[in-house]
Amino acid sequence: MRIWGAPSLSNRKGHIVVEPGLNCEEVLKHLMAYLDHEIDGDAAARIEHHLEACRGCFSRAEFERHLKEHVHAAGAQTAPASLRARIKQIVDKF
Ligand SMILES: [Zn+2]
Repeated sequence: MRIWGAPSLSNRKGHIVVEPGLNCEEVLKHLMAYLDHEIDGDAAARIEHHLEACRGCFSRAEFERHLKEHVHAAGAQTAPASLRARIKQIVDKF
């Protein structure tokens, strides 16, 4: 099962989204820090803006967010090995 479909350069409405200085690669690179609130105002706002426009990154962010909540709810500091392997698979595919 694919979780976030095929990567796309356009959003649902078909607009091509170009964010100066911030592409998908950079967003994904800082995604975890962003979700951990380790990124400050301006940079966080730019990532947020990208996520609003980019379905691929948004899906990825949602996935990571849910995962973090799940892990947190389970009271564990680390995800189970099976889950980590699954994430790694997905990340490698991206
Ligand atoms: Zn993106």
